[in-house]
Amino acid sequence: MYPSGIVLDKDGKPCRVCTAFKNWTKQEKKKQHDSSSIHTNSNNNKTNSTKTTEAVGSIISTNSSDSTLPPDCPPDVEQLGRSTWTFLHTMAAYYPEVPSYAQQRSMKTFLSTFSQFYPCDHCAEHLREEMKSKPPKVESRWALGKWLCEIHNIVNESLGKDIFDCSKIDERWKDGPKDGRCD
Ligand SMILES: Cc1cc2nc3c(=O)[nH]c(=O)nc-3n(C[C@H](O)[C@H](O)[C@H](O)COP(=O)(O)OP(=O)(O)OC[C@H]3O[C@@H](n4cnc5c(N)ncnc54)[C@H](O)[C@@H]3O)c2cc1C
Repeated sequence: MYPSGIVLDKDGKPCRVCTAFKNWTKQEKKKQHDSSSIHTNSNNNKTNSTKTTEAVGSIISTNSSDSTLPPDCPPDVEQLGRSTWTFLHTMAAYYPEVPSYAQQRSMKTFLSTFSQFYPCDHCAEHLREEMKSKPPKVESRWALGKWLCEIHNIVNESLGKDIFDCSKIDERWKDGPKDGRCD
């Protein structure tokens, strides 16, 4: 049995990049202290969905560890997410105000490809689902930034995080706050 919070990949194996480090490191410590081999539950349902020990495709928060990811370790789901959002929002902030048709097509292709290869399986699956009902808006810089902000807010909501005010995307990702503290 895995410790709570470990997210499994589509093959039923523990997925490092889908799991928060605080839960991953708990598993590694348990392995060291527990010689019994880990195994998947043969009663798992037959879908391809990612599973945790307690829930499907979500992170279980625990109070038992406050470990933070050391800087030279492979990313966990949170570090990967933070870095990826930084890249995506910054890319959207610098997208052309009036993109050419070719640029719009490239951005659509990029986002579609990105959603296939994002290394956290259940995150990518969730993103692809959202993109079906909310296809990317690529007709202008503002449209892309707002679309991405709304997608990020859907993820925020599912994780119980605060909803971001999408009128503030330029301040957060391009210009910095008016008080000049980032200048
Ligand atoms: C496509 C994708 C899907 C993900 N799916 C999952 C998942 O299913 N399960 C999971 O556990 N984790 C998922 N993550 C990771 C998760 O979204 C967070 O990145 C991670 O939990 C770290 O959160 P954070 O609080 O540091 O802030 P993040 O959510 O990483 O945000 C970074 C910064 O962006 C700003 N920000 C916040 N919301 C918005 C917004 N709406 N628009 C613009 N800027 C904003 C804030 O200043 C914030 O500090 C996903 C990440 C990505 C990129």
